[in-house]
Amino acid sequence: SEHEDYRRAEIVVDLGAIRRNVEKLCDAVAAGSDGPAVMVVVKADGYGHGLFGSARAARAGGATWLGVADRDEALDLREEGDTGRMLAWLGMPGEDYGPLIEADVDVAAYSTQQLEEIVEGATATGKVARVHLKVDTGLSRGGAPLSTWKGLVDAAAKAEKAGHVKVAGIWSHFACSDEPEHASNDLQEEAFEAALEVADKAGLEPEVRHLANSAAALLRPSSWYDLVRFGIAAYGLSPAPHVTNIDHLELEPAMTVHAKAALTKDLAIGDAVSYGHTFTAERPMRVALVPLGYGDGIPRHASSLGPVQIRGHRGRILGRVCMDQFVAEAPRGTVAGDEVVLFGPGTNGEPTAQEWAEACGTISYEIVTRMGGSANRVAK
Ligand code: PLP
Repeated sequence: SEHEDYRRAEIVVDLGAIRRNVEKLCDAVAAGSDGPAVMVVVKADGYGHGLFGSARAARAGGATWLGVADRDEALDLREEGDTGRMLAWLGMPGEDYGPLIEADVDVAAYSTQQLEEIVEGATATGKVARVHLKVDTGLSRGGAPLSTWKGLVDAAAKAEKAGHVKVAGIWSHFACSDEPEHASNDLQEEAFEAALEVADKAGLEPEVRHLANSAAALLRPSSWYDLVRFGIAAYGLSPAPHVTNIDHLELEPAMTVHAKAALTKDLAIGDAVSYGHTFTAERPMRVALVPLGYGDGIPRHASSLGPVQIRGHRGRILGRVCMDQFVAEAPRGTVAGDEVVLFGPGTNGEPTAQEWAEACGTISYEIVTRMGGSANRVAK
């Protein structure tokens, strides 16, 4: 919402928490001494925390790199004054790379066609494009499969000799790093080694080789190479909630979502709640109408499951989540205007985004990234 005041609901982003998280993550990988450099991933509007605020907090915490998916995110960051190293990795077919190259943003190439488009951009701007060649080591998502990797490497070596590009990075992405015991982790690392060797033989000397996301950076030092890419952990959420040896870092969840109860009422035994009448009161109970719904990013899967805190008491959503409101269990004495906390850092007994994710059968990434709609986002 463009309105400043806290009328219905508010997403409060603690930028200090993001900065402190990044400081802790830099320490965890010994960045600045003999460990890798740190990139903080701020795509998807800083995982829902705000692109600019998250980027500034990440830089203040020690991130020498920022990572985004989209061209426009990178250009917006430049326009806003960020001058540090930055990688934008989701080029689209026919992309005009000129503006990114002009803005000194590193770009990714997954195919020779993409590399050609980057060379065109470099030629048009008269600058050398900084390119990160991506190899698909087993995620089967972005990146050149090993079958076409040598072709991409040779094309890049040629473009480098011709003065159009500098191969600044070689990189890949894990499929199962949140499952440290998964056999694919070793296999992906081996495939990455093989890909690096191909590049080495072709004479490429990348500044940074990078493979690790949050889970890998925290659980597999063998995957550090020269740079690690922290997303979710920078926002204070665990990339692998079932793995307890991340807990000692004491990351602080940076997002709090709260709302004002729009209305309260007492239900009698037998009163059924919300569309489809999927919940029926089995005892007299007080309920609060909470002015947030799936249009604001509350998953409909949270129906009858999502936790809330009102007046220090835990309750849950009753019946179905609607487009812009849901009904929640409330302690006796709750009145309209009372604060309803959906999730926060958990330090005052309130639910966390991780609890919401578990209640809805999803991951914390999705919970925080989709929050928005009518809720006003403020940084503190
Ligand atoms: N690297 C790449 C290529 C990504 O797409 C992402 C996010 O999905 C990350 C790093 C950060 O991942 P995480 O949030 O698990 O740290």
